[in-house]
Amino acid sequence: MVLERPGQPLRAAELPDPGPGTGQVLLEVRACGVCRTDLHVVEGELPHPKLPLVPGHQIVGVDGDGRRLGVPWLGWTDGDCRYCTRGLENLCDGARFTGYDLDGGYAERVVADERFCLPIPDAYTDEQAAPLLCAGLIGYRSLRMTGDAERLGLYGFGASAHIVAQVARHQGRRVFAFTKPGDRGGQAFARELGAEWAGGSDERPPDELDAAILFAPAGELVPTALAALAKGGTVVCAGIHMSDVPSFPYELLWGERQVRSVANLTRADGDEFLALAPQVPVQTRVEVFPLTDANEALERLRAGGITGAAVLVP
Ligand SMILES: [Zn+2]
Ligand SMILES: [Zn+2]
Repeated sequence: MVLERPGQPLRAAELPDPGPGTGQVLLEVRACGVCRTDLHVVEGELPHPKLPLVPGHQIVGVDGDGRRLGVPWLGWTDGDCRYCTRGLENLCDGARFTGYDLDGGYAERVVADERFCLPIPDAYTDEQAAPLLCAGLIGYRSLRMTGDAERLGLYGFGASAHIVAQVARHQGRRVFAFTKPGDRGGQAFARELGAEWAGGSDERPPDELDAAILFAPAGELVPTALAALAKGGTVVCAGIHMSDVPSFPYELLWGERQVRSVANLTRADGDEFLALAPQVPVQTRVEVFPLTDANEALERLRAGGITGAAVLVP
């Protein structure tokens, strides 16, 4: 499924099989998760995709030796910039991202740099493993950025939050889930996954929060979440794109509250999270679409109509 121009639907196309270069593996795609970032790419909110582009960066594939490998968003780094050399390869100046700078997994075959592939835990089917690779991984990195926050707010209860909630409960944290106002189904889903309270993003939680993670790409939620924080709390913005953050009184930030973003992932995040997921155990809720229905899957995601994560299967 190919993006030729942002703002247009993907087009089903027959492309030549990709040829693996030095250090790359050729994978048969078994499943590819649909991420909100894919939606931002297709809609043109991220400015410089490779074009034409095969999107998709939560790829579960099998190589010629039968090894099952995951291909995440971080597809390549230069290894020698000031970020890479400090353990911050997620911020690499020269990074190339899967399904953005490199062709991704909305396809039957993909090539990937073997050094950036992650082994998939045996406990998961292909479909259930796919959302671990971004929703899970970047969600986990975001959760780590909340430190030891006990009372955790999750704004936007989609693919990422439904995984993070399970990890957070496993770590003994208290989870408060915020959905679109009136989304009773989403709130019930959050309670099912261990949230002790679930309500609309326009509601105040019954207790102060020590941290909040914003998965919804809505800048107006930054002051909303700050207003729900206890002193010393952190708001973590987990998405790659967000609408503008409106101005807000300094009083909301006062008291050593912080606002920060989380960008991309490191391979260490991948190893750590994929070791942890089967122990929790994280159970992903997926809705499977045939690859050729990628546009429908994206549309459903845009409309908020997916419970858990959408996954494409060729
Ligand atoms: Zn670098
Ligand atoms: Zn993603």
